[in-house]
Amino acid sequence: MRFTFFNDFLALVFPQTCAICRCSLFDFEELICRPCLVQLPMTSHHKRAEDNDLAKKVMGLSQVTRVMAFLRFAKKGVSQKLLHQLKYRNRPEMGRFLGKLYGQELVRNGYKGTWDSVLAIPLHPAKEKRRGYNQSLMFAEGLSDALGLPVQDQLVRTKFTTTQTNKSRWERIANVENVFSLVSDVDVRNKKLLLVDDVMTTGATLAAAANVLLATGATQVDLAVIAAGK
Ligand SMILES: [Zn+2]
Repeated sequence: MRFTFFNDFLALVFPQTCAICRCSLFDFEELICRPCLVQLPMTSHHKRAEDNDLAKKVMGLSQVTRVMAFLRFAKKGVSQKLLHQLKYRNRPEMGRFLGKLYGQELVRNGYKGTWDSVLAIPLHPAKEKRRGYNQSLMFAEGLSDALGLPVQDQLVRTKFTTTQTNKSRWERIANVENVFSLVSDVDVRNKKLLLVDDVMTTGATLAAAANVLLATGATQVDLAVIAAGK
């Protein structure tokens, strides 16, 4: 009772605000207000997950089966705002929340039971230490909750890649080769896996990790990201 009062008091002094429009949130809202939530720039990738613009981009690099992004990325757009909070404003809960939202959408579209587990692209340990968490793993945890899937935190980054920003498509692809490996005692053989990351640009990073999983014996690897551009 006392805590409830204290929380109400805190909410009065420091109201929780919407991560997009900054309006004060109602008690029943979480991180994003209702009006902003219904306007999220969702893609329809999951409706044609084997044949969409994103899938075409990655399928030349890896034999993944389905590829989908929750949100359409646009510079200075809503998705960039959310990703910025997730990555640079110490808000791991944003990753879980977006994962949960997308997971619920996937369940509504018949995806429950599609995968055996979900894996996240790992950050380099030094980078993860600086940030305090791996934003992609947070997204994986949200998906895991909504889809009822275990998270397999077993991919590791073996090499620190230099920034991808100023590289050409082929330079980026070469830059991430042999970057990932699996924790040795873990078995992905004959498993259907959902591999996730925060954003997809060329798809080179996700393809490199997917190739490790497929080479180890996974029967199917599908990809999901929080946001991707055209
Ligand atoms: Zn809002």
